[in-house]
Amino acid sequence: MIMSRPVPRPGVLDIDAYVPGKAGAPGAGRVFKLSANESPLGPSPRAVQALRDMAHEIAIYPEGSSHKLRETVGAVNGLDPARIIMGAGSDNILELLALAYLAPGDEAIYTQYGFLEYRIVTLAAGGVPVVAPETHYTADVDAILERVTARTRIVFLANPNNPTGSYLPRGEIERLANSLPPHVLLVLDAAYAEYVVNDDYESGVALATSRDNVVMTRTFSKIYGLAGLRLGWGYGPSHVIDALNRIRSPFNVSTAASAAGIASAQDVAHMQAAVAHNAKWLPWLTREIEALGLEVLPSVANFVAIRFPTQPGRAAADADRFLTSRGLVLRAIGAYGMGEFLRLTVGLDEANVAVVAALADFMEDRKAAANG
Ligand SMILES: *Cc1c(COP(=O)(O)O)cnc(C)c1O
Repeated sequence: MIMSRPVPRPGVLDIDAYVPGKAGAPGAGRVFKLSANESPLGPSPRAVQALRDMAHEIAIYPEGSSHKLRETVGAVNGLDPARIIMGAGSDNILELLALAYLAPGDEAIYTQYGFLEYRIVTLAAGGVPVVAPETHYTADVDAILERVTARTRIVFLANPNNPTGSYLPRGEIERLANSLPPHVLLVLDAAYAEYVVNDDYESGVALATSRDNVVMTRTFSKIYGLAGLRLGWGYGPSHVIDALNRIRSPFNVSTAASAAGIASAQDVAHMQAAVAHNAKWLPWLTREIEALGLEVLPSVANFVAIRFPTQPGRAAADADRFLTSRGLVLRAIGAYGMGEFLRLTVGLDEANVAVVAALADFMEDRKAAANG
Protein backbone atom coordinates (compact mmCIF):
# COMPACT_ATOMS: atom_id res chain seq x y z
CA MET A 1 0.00 0.00 0.00
CA ILE A 2 1.25 3.49 -0.86
CA MET A 3 0.86 5.95 1.98
CA SER A 4 0.62 9.69 1.42
CA ARG A 5 2.25 10.42 4.75
CA PRO A 6 3.95 8.56 7.59
CA VAL A 7 1.50 6.28 9.41
CA PRO A 8 2.05 4.87 12.92
CA ARG A 9 2.12 1.12 13.22
CA PRO A 10 -1.05 -0.84 14.01
CA GLY A 11 -2.40 -0.24 17.49
CA VAL A 12 -1.08 3.26 17.98
CA LEU A 13 -4.18 5.07 16.71
CA ASP A 14 -6.40 2.73 18.77
CA ILE A 15 -5.02 4.41 21.87
CA ASP A 16 -7.10 7.10 23.53
CA ALA A 17 -4.48 9.42 24.95
CA TYR A 18 -4.54 9.42 28.75
CA VAL A 19 -6.59 12.35 30.04
CA PRO A 20 -5.30 13.52 33.41
CA GLY A 21 -7.66 14.86 36.07
CA LYS A 22 -8.54 18.55 35.97
CA ALA A 23 -6.13 20.74 37.85
CA GLY A 24 -8.14 23.92 38.30
CA ALA A 25 -11.54 25.35 39.05
CA PRO A 26 -11.91 28.65 37.19
CA GLY A 27 -13.82 31.24 39.17
CA ALA A 28 -13.66 29.39 42.49
CA GLY A 29 -11.64 31.02 45.26
CA ARG A 30 -9.35 28.60 47.03
CA VAL A 31 -8.87 25.40 45.03
CA PHE A 32 -8.19 21.93 46.40
CA LYS A 33 -6.91 19.54 43.75
CA LEU A 34 -8.19 16.14 44.83
CA SER A 35 -8.07 14.57 41.39
CA ALA A 36 -4.71 12.86 41.00
CA ASN A 37 -3.98 10.96 44.22
CA GLU A 38 -1.08 13.25 45.03
CA SER A 39 0.10 13.51 48.62
CA PRO A 40 -1.67 16.27 50.57
CA LEU A 41 1.43 16.52 52.78
CA GLY A 42 3.64 17.30 49.79
CA PRO A 43 7.24 16.21 49.47
CA SER A 44 9.67 15.71 52.33
CA PRO A 45 11.39 19.02 53.22
CA ARG A 46 14.62 17.03 52.89
CA ALA A 47 13.77 16.31 49.24
CA VAL A 48 13.19 20.02 48.60
CA GLN A 49 16.53 20.83 50.22
CA ALA A 50 18.27 18.13 48.17
CA LEU A 51 16.89 19.73 44.99
CA ARG A 52 18.18 23.14 46.03
CA ASP A 53 21.58 21.65 46.82
CA MET A 54 21.91 19.94 43.44
CA ALA A 55 20.62 22.82 41.32
CA HIS A 56 24.09 23.86 40.17
CA GLU A 57 24.83 20.34 38.87
CA ILE A 58 22.20 20.20 36.14
CA ALA A 59 24.65 20.83 33.29
CA ILE A 60 26.05 17.37 33.96
CA TYR A 61 24.44 14.14 32.69
CA PRO A 62 23.03 11.85 35.39
CA GLU A 63 24.87 8.71 36.46
CA GLY A 64 22.97 6.41 34.12
CA SER A 65 22.40 3.39 36.34
CA SER A 66 20.95 5.46 39.22
CA HIS A 67 23.36 3.55 41.42
CA LYS A 68 23.07 5.62 44.59
CA LEU A 69 19.30 5.82 44.38
CA ARG A 70 19.03 2.04 43.89
CA GLU A 71 21.32 1.49 46.88
CA THR A 72 19.12 3.73 49.01
CA VAL A 73 15.82 2.22 47.89
CA GLY A 74 17.33 -1.24 48.37
CA ALA A 75 18.50 -0.41 51.89
CA VAL A 76 15.20 1.17 52.94
CA ASN A 77 13.14 -1.73 51.59
CA GLY A 78 15.52 -4.59 52.34
CA LEU A 79 16.01 -5.42 48.65
CA ASP A 80 19.00 -6.25 46.47
CA PRO A 81 19.80 -3.03 44.51
CA ALA A 82 21.01 -5.13 41.58
CA ARG A 83 17.43 -6.29 41.09
CA ILE A 84 16.00 -2.76 41.03
CA ILE A 85 15.53 -0.59 37.95
CA MET A 86 14.69 3.10 38.16
CA GLY A 87 12.39 4.88 35.75
CA ALA A 88 10.89 8.25 34.92
CA GLY A 89 7.80 7.35 36.91
CA SER A 90 6.57 3.80 37.23
CA ASP A 91 4.78 4.48 33.92
CA ASN A 92 8.23 4.28 32.39
CA ILE A 93 8.78 0.81 33.90
CA LEU A 94 5.37 -0.36 32.66
CA GLU A 95 6.27 0.85 29.16
CA LEU A 96 9.60 -0.95 29.26
CA LEU A 97 7.92 -4.17 30.38
CA ALA A 98 5.43 -4.03 27.50
CA LEU A 99 8.15 -3.16 25.02
CA ALA A 100 10.44 -5.95 26.21
CA TYR A 101 7.88 -8.75 26.53
CA LEU A 102 5.19 -8.13 23.91
CA ALA A 103 5.70 -8.91 20.24
CA PRO A 104 2.97 -7.85 17.81
CA GLY A 105 -0.09 -10.02 18.46
CA ASP A 106 0.97 -11.07 21.96
CA GLU A 107 -1.66 -10.63 24.61
CA ALA A 108 -1.55 -8.69 27.85
CA ILE A 109 -4.31 -9.19 30.40
CA TYR A 110 -5.54 -6.52 32.77
CA THR A 111 -8.77 -6.19 34.70
CA GLN A 112 -12.02 -4.40 33.84
CA TYR A 113 -11.42 -1.34 36.01
CA GLY A 114 -7.64 -1.69 36.01
CA PHE A 115 -5.35 1.30 35.62
CA LEU A 116 -5.68 2.61 32.03
CA GLU A 117 -1.96 2.85 31.47
CA TYR A 118 -1.87 -0.95 30.90
CA ARG A 119 -4.00 -0.62 27.80
CA ILE A 120 -1.85 2.24 26.50
CA VAL A 121 1.49 0.48 26.95
CA THR A 122 0.10 -2.77 25.52
CA LEU A 123 -1.18 -1.15 22.33
CA ALA A 124 1.92 1.01 22.04
CA ALA A 125 4.05 -2.15 22.02
CA GLY A 126 1.88 -3.76 19.32
CA GLY A 127 0.24 -6.09 21.82
CA VAL A 128 -3.39 -7.11 22.16
CA PRO A 129 -5.25 -5.95 25.30
CA VAL A 130 -7.36 -8.65 26.96
CA VAL A 131 -9.74 -7.47 29.66
CA ALA A 132 -10.72 -9.76 32.55
CA PRO A 133 -14.01 -8.87 34.25
CA GLU A 134 -14.00 -7.87 37.90
CA THR A 135 -16.34 -8.88 40.71
CA HIS A 136 -17.65 -6.04 42.92
CA TYR A 137 -15.05 -3.67 41.47
CA THR A 138 -12.29 -6.05 42.56
CA ALA A 139 -9.93 -8.11 40.40
CA ASP A 140 -11.01 -11.73 40.02
CA VAL A 141 -8.16 -14.24 39.88
CA ASP A 142 -10.25 -16.95 38.18
CA ALA A 143 -11.44 -14.51 35.51
CA ILE A 144 -7.81 -13.58 34.82
CA LEU A 145 -6.70 -17.22 34.64
CA GLU A 146 -9.56 -18.10 32.29
CA ARG A 147 -8.22 -15.56 29.80
CA VAL A 148 -4.69 -16.91 29.64
CA THR A 149 -3.83 -18.32 26.21
CA ALA A 150 -0.66 -19.46 24.45
CA ARG A 151 -0.27 -15.81 23.31
CA THR A 152 -0.44 -14.31 26.81
CA ARG A 153 2.83 -12.70 27.85
CA ILE A 154 1.92 -10.27 30.65
CA VAL A 155 -0.71 -9.92 33.36
CA PHE A 156 -0.86 -6.35 34.70
CA LEU A 157 -2.47 -6.03 38.13
CA ALA A 158 -2.63 -2.86 40.20
CA ASN A 159 -2.76 -3.84 43.85
CA PRO A 160 -4.38 -1.78 45.27
CA ASN A 161 -6.11 -0.71 42.08
CA ASN A 162 -6.70 2.83 40.87
CA PRO A 163 -9.50 4.07 40.49
CA THR A 164 -11.46 1.53 42.58
CA GLY A 165 -9.22 1.39 45.69
CA SER A 166 -9.83 -2.36 46.00
CA TYR A 167 -7.09 -4.93 46.54
CA LEU A 168 -6.41 -8.63 46.54
CA PRO A 169 -5.03 -10.23 49.71
CA ARG A 170 -1.73 -12.09 49.76
CA GLY A 171 -3.38 -15.49 49.32
CA GLU A 172 -5.12 -14.49 46.09
CA ILE A 173 -1.98 -12.93 44.65
CA GLU A 174 -0.04 -16.09 45.49
CA ARG A 175 -2.74 -18.23 43.90
CA LEU A 176 -2.54 -16.11 40.75
CA ALA A 177 1.25 -16.34 40.61
CA ASN A 178 1.17 -20.09 41.25
CA SER A 179 -1.44 -20.73 38.58
CA LEU A 180 0.05 -18.71 35.71
CA PRO A 181 2.15 -20.60 33.17
CA PRO A 182 5.87 -19.90 33.71
CA HIS A 183 6.21 -17.88 30.49
CA VAL A 184 3.64 -15.29 31.65
CA LEU A 185 5.06 -12.28 33.50
CA LEU A 186 2.93 -11.08 36.41
CA VAL A 187 3.38 -7.33 36.90
CA LEU A 188 2.22 -6.22 40.35
CA ASP A 189 1.79 -2.45 40.28
CA ALA A 190 2.02 -1.41 43.92
CA ALA A 191 1.84 2.36 43.46
CA TYR A 192 -0.19 2.72 46.68
CA ALA A 193 1.50 -0.03 48.73
CA GLU A 194 2.72 2.29 51.47
CA TYR A 195 -0.83 3.37 52.30
CA VAL A 196 -2.21 -0.11 52.90
CA VAL A 197 -2.56 -0.97 56.58
CA ASN A 198 -4.34 -4.34 56.18
CA ASP A 199 -2.44 -7.34 57.57
CA ASP A 200 -3.30 -9.60 54.65
CA TYR A 201 -1.73 -7.28 52.07
CA GLU A 202 1.60 -8.01 50.42
CA SER A 203 3.01 -5.53 47.93
CA GLY A 204 4.71 -8.13 45.76
CA VAL A 205 8.17 -8.00 47.37
CA ALA A 206 8.00 -11.65 48.46
CA LEU A 207 6.83 -12.99 45.09
CA ALA A 208 9.17 -10.79 43.04
CA THR A 209 12.02 -12.06 45.22
CA SER A 210 11.23 -15.75 44.95
CA ARG A 211 9.71 -16.21 41.50
CA ASP A 212 11.10 -16.01 38.01
CA ASN A 213 7.98 -14.46 36.51
CA VAL A 214 6.86 -11.75 38.95
CA VAL A 215 7.85 -8.07 38.88
CA MET A 216 6.70 -5.33 41.25
CA THR A 217 6.53 -1.65 40.32
CA ARG A 218 6.58 1.21 42.82
CA THR A 219 6.48 4.98 42.61
CA PHE A 220 7.68 8.16 44.28
CA SER A 221 4.65 9.99 42.82
CA LYS A 222 2.12 9.06 45.44
CA ILE A 223 3.00 8.83 49.13
CA TYR A 224 6.41 10.47 48.61
CA GLY A 225 4.90 13.52 46.95
CA LEU A 226 7.28 13.67 43.98
CA ALA A 227 4.78 13.28 41.11
CA GLY A 228 6.14 16.31 39.27
CA LEU A 229 9.69 14.94 39.16
CA ARG A 230 8.73 11.58 37.58
CA LEU A 231 10.37 8.80 39.55
CA GLY A 232 9.40 5.16 39.96
CA TRP A 233 11.04 1.77 40.12
CA GLY A 234 10.71 -1.88 39.39
CA TYR A 235 11.97 -4.88 41.37
CA GLY A 236 12.13 -8.41 40.07
CA PRO A 237 14.24 -11.35 38.93
CA SER A 238 17.66 -10.43 37.52
CA HIS A 239 16.80 -11.70 34.05
CA VAL A 240 13.85 -9.30 33.81
CA ILE A 241 15.77 -6.32 35.18
CA ASP A 242 18.56 -7.12 32.71
CA ALA A 243 16.13 -7.09 29.77
CA LEU A 244 14.65 -3.76 30.83
CA ASN A 245 18.07 -2.19 31.30
CA ARG A 246 18.93 -3.05 27.70
CA ILE A 247 16.03 -1.05 26.28
CA ARG A 248 15.65 1.87 28.65
CA SER A 249 17.02 5.20 27.55
CA PRO A 250 20.45 5.62 29.08
CA PHE A 251 19.57 8.65 31.20
CA ASN A 252 15.91 7.94 31.96
CA VAL A 253 16.13 9.30 35.51
CA SER A 254 17.20 12.91 35.98
CA THR A 255 19.79 14.05 38.50
CA ALA A 256 17.07 16.09 40.19
CA ALA A 257 14.72 13.13 40.53
CA SER A 258 17.55 10.98 41.90
CA ALA A 259 18.58 13.54 44.50
CA ALA A 260 14.99 14.08 45.67
CA GLY A 261 14.31 10.34 45.63
CA ILE A 262 17.28 9.56 47.85
CA ALA A 263 16.31 12.23 50.37
CA SER A 264 12.65 11.14 50.32
CA ALA A 265 13.40 7.45 50.78
CA GLN A 266 15.53 8.32 53.82
CA ASP A 267 12.85 10.48 55.41
CA VAL A 268 10.87 7.63 56.91
CA ALA A 269 9.12 9.95 59.39
CA HIS A 270 7.60 12.02 56.57
CA MET A 271 6.31 8.88 54.90
CA GLN A 272 4.85 7.62 58.18
CA ALA A 273 3.11 10.95 58.72
CA ALA A 274 1.42 10.50 55.34
CA VAL A 275 0.36 6.97 56.29
CA ALA A 276 -1.07 8.22 59.59
CA HIS A 277 -2.89 11.12 57.90
CA ASN A 278 -4.46 8.72 55.44
CA ALA A 279 -5.35 6.13 58.08
CA LYS A 280 -7.25 8.85 59.92
CA TRP A 281 -9.08 10.49 57.00
CA LEU A 282 -9.82 7.57 54.66
CA PRO A 283 -12.29 5.94 57.11
CA TRP A 284 -13.69 9.33 58.10
CA LEU A 285 -14.42 10.32 54.50
CA THR A 286 -15.91 6.89 53.78
CA ARG A 287 -18.21 7.08 56.80
CA GLU A 288 -19.30 10.68 56.32
CA ILE A 289 -19.99 10.32 52.62
CA GLU A 290 -21.92 7.09 53.15
CA ALA A 291 -23.98 8.87 55.81
CA LEU A 292 -25.14 11.25 53.06
CA GLY A 293 -26.68 8.30 51.25
CA LEU A 294 -23.92 7.85 48.68
CA GLU A 295 -22.17 4.56 48.01
CA VAL A 296 -18.40 4.58 48.58
CA LEU A 297 -16.30 1.68 47.32
CA PRO A 298 -14.17 0.27 50.15
CA SER A 299 -10.63 1.55 49.57
CA VAL A 300 -7.25 0.77 51.08
CA ALA A 301 -5.42 3.52 49.16
CA ASN A 302 -5.45 7.34 49.41
CA PHE A 303 -8.64 7.87 47.45
CA VAL A 304 -12.23 6.68 47.28
CA ALA A 305 -14.64 6.15 44.40
CA ILE A 306 -18.06 7.65 45.18
CA ARG A 307 -21.14 6.44 43.31
CA PHE A 308 -23.85 8.97 42.47
CA PRO A 309 -27.47 8.30 41.51
CA THR A 310 -28.26 8.20 37.81
CA GLN A 311 -31.17 10.69 37.86
CA PRO A 312 -30.45 13.86 35.88
CA GLY A 313 -29.45 16.63 38.24
CA ARG A 314 -28.11 14.19 40.84
CA ALA A 315 -25.54 12.39 38.72
CA ALA A 316 -21.76 12.32 38.99
CA ALA A 317 -21.38 14.99 36.30
CA ASP A 318 -23.74 17.30 38.23
CA ALA A 319 -21.84 16.69 41.45
CA ASP A 320 -18.58 17.33 39.61
CA ARG A 321 -19.83 20.77 38.44
CA PHE A 322 -21.21 21.60 41.87
CA LEU A 323 -17.97 20.65 43.67
CA THR A 324 -15.77 22.38 41.09
CA SER A 325 -17.70 25.62 41.58
CA ARG A 326 -16.64 25.39 45.22
CA GLY A 327 -13.01 24.85 44.34
CA LEU A 328 -13.11 21.09 45.02
CA VAL A 329 -11.64 19.28 42.05
CA LEU A 330 -12.39 15.55 41.93
CA ARG A 331 -11.76 13.05 39.15
CA ALA A 332 -14.41 11.91 36.69
CA ILE A 333 -13.67 8.29 35.78
CA GLY A 334 -15.97 7.69 32.84
CA ALA A 335 -12.93 6.57 30.83
CA TYR A 336 -12.84 3.53 33.13
CA GLY A 337 -16.49 2.69 32.45
CA MET A 338 -17.31 4.19 35.86
CA GLY A 339 -19.37 7.17 34.73
CA GLU A 340 -21.56 7.01 37.84
CA PHE A 341 -18.54 7.67 40.05
CA LEU A 342 -16.20 10.46 41.03
CA ARG A 343 -12.84 9.65 42.56
CA LEU A 344 -11.81 11.70 45.56
CA THR A 345 -8.22 11.86 46.79
CA VAL A 346 -7.75 12.19 50.56
CA GLY A 347 -6.68 15.79 51.10
CA LEU A 348 -5.64 18.04 53.94
CA ASP A 349 -8.02 18.28 56.91
CA GLU A 350 -9.64 21.43 55.58
CA ALA A 351 -10.22 19.97 52.12
CA ASN A 352 -11.75 16.76 53.49
CA VAL A 353 -14.17 18.67 55.69
CA ALA A 354 -15.03 20.99 52.79
CA VAL A 355 -15.78 18.05 50.47
CA VAL A 356 -18.17 16.44 52.93
CA ALA A 357 -19.91 19.77 53.56
CA ALA A 358 -20.23 20.42 49.83
CA LEU A 359 -21.55 16.92 49.16
CA ALA A 360 -24.10 17.40 51.97
CA ASP A 361 -25.26 20.63 50.30
CA PHE A 362 -25.38 18.94 46.92
CA MET A 363 -27.55 16.10 48.23
CA GLU A 364 -29.77 18.55 50.18
CA ASP A 365 -30.20 20.83 47.13
CA ARG A 366 -31.19 17.88 44.99
CA LYS A 367 -33.68 16.63 47.56
CA ALA A 368 -35.22 20.11 47.79
CA ALA A 369 -35.39 20.30 43.99
CA ALA A 370 -37.06 16.88 43.84
CA ASN A 371 -39.65 17.81 46.48
CA GLY A 372 -40.34 21.31 45.24
C1 LIG B 1 -0.37 6.86 39.96
C2 LIG B 1 -0.20 5.46 39.55
C3 LIG B 1 1.03 5.02 39.08
C4 LIG B 1 2.23 5.90 39.16
O1 LIG B 1 2.60 6.45 38.02
P1 LIG B 1 3.98 7.26 37.97
O2 LIG B 1 4.34 7.12 36.55
O3 LIG B 1 4.94 6.56 38.88
O4 LIG B 1 3.68 8.64 38.40
C5 LIG B 1 1.16 3.70 38.70
N1 LIG B 1 0.13 2.85 38.81
C6 LIG B 1 -1.06 3.24 39.31
C7 LIG B 1 -2.13 2.23 39.47
C8 LIG B 1 -1.25 4.56 39.67
O5 LIG B 1 -2.43 4.95 40.12
